[in-house]
Amino acid sequence: MAKRVLIAGGAGFIGSHLCEAYLAKGWEVLCLDNFMTSRRSNVAHMLTNQNFELVRHDIIEPYLADVDLILNFACPASPVHYQHNPIRTVKTNVLGTMNLLGLARRCGARFLQASTSEVYGDPKEHPQKETYWGNVNPTGIRSCYDEGKRLAETLCFDYHRQHGVDIRVIRIFNTYGPQMAIDDGRVVSNFIVQALRGEDLTIYGNGEQTRSFCFVEDLVDGIVRFAATEGETGPINLGNDGEFTVMELAQEVLRQIPTKSKIVYRPLPSDDPKTRRPDLSKTKSVLKGWEPKVALKDGLARAIPWFRSAIESQS
Ligand code: UDP
Repeated sequence: MAKRVLIAGGAGFIGSHLCEAYLAKGWEVLCLDNFMTSRRSNVAHMLTNQNFELVRHDIIEPYLADVDLILNFACPASPVHYQHNPIRTVKTNVLGTMNLLGLARRCGARFLQASTSEVYGDPKEHPQKETYWGNVNPTGIRSCYDEGKRLAETLCFDYHRQHGVDIRVIRIFNTYGPQMAIDDGRVVSNFIVQALRGEDLTIYGNGEQTRSFCFVEDLVDGIVRFAATEGETGPINLGNDGEFTVMELAQEVLRQIPTKSKIVYRPLPSDDPKTRRPDLSKTKSVLKGWEPKVALKDGLARAIPWFRSAIESQS
């Protein structure tokens, strides 16, 4: 019998790529989404597949199903979106994760939690290893997401220790690619969309802050491998360890897109991390043979045509 995976947030950016990956492996995919920041168009091409089922559901409410694997990708991940309704962001991460862990316990499913590099906050250790406990403001504007995701990790490990739930925790670093929302608000999509529309690229602060950008294909490959790995709960970092300043990203986008756009500066939001780069040594030893393969300039070259057609189909 085909294996069944429940993907919470399955119509979102990363979730929709995971739906495709599991259908390609011959699994039955149950995609749950409340469509708060995701879109049906991300999964429309899968609706005719007999192994795909789309259900509108908010994981803040309990859900019952019989599945072998649960992937929890249900949470707005862009600072603009998760700060729009911060209390709901906390509920999604805490109540939502608890509901899905309860389901995993009931049906004996493996549970993979999409955690985040945000658990390291504005890191004092660089690059970030999984053993680093982080530097997170508990009362700031990013706390609903950072602390929410930290508590979600705590819940995973408590369900594992107390009830034996078979957990996998990944910490995702900045990821980009097709199926991101064009109004997502994150830096890669903002810069590409601004350049394509001939609008100025908005750098927050002086552009010297760094991030490490992973193409979604590398990330999904790592997730699918880890979900199938025995005997390791994580957490493991997943991302690309090439580190770039936001200014370098803006310059690369301007190199690839002929445009009249210029660079303009906007205030840096509070608690914006100054540096971020994953230490991937644990990940590479757990996921034997995995490494990020797509360099930033190649990933941008693959993402830009997708954003161009998304903008065209909107207008
Ligand atoms: N950023 C920027 N311009 C934008 C959007 C974001 O300069 O239009 C900066 C932001 O301040 C941060 C970095 O780019 O330093 C990454 O921001 P993003 O929202 O993509 O994700 P984060 O890593 O902060 O969660």
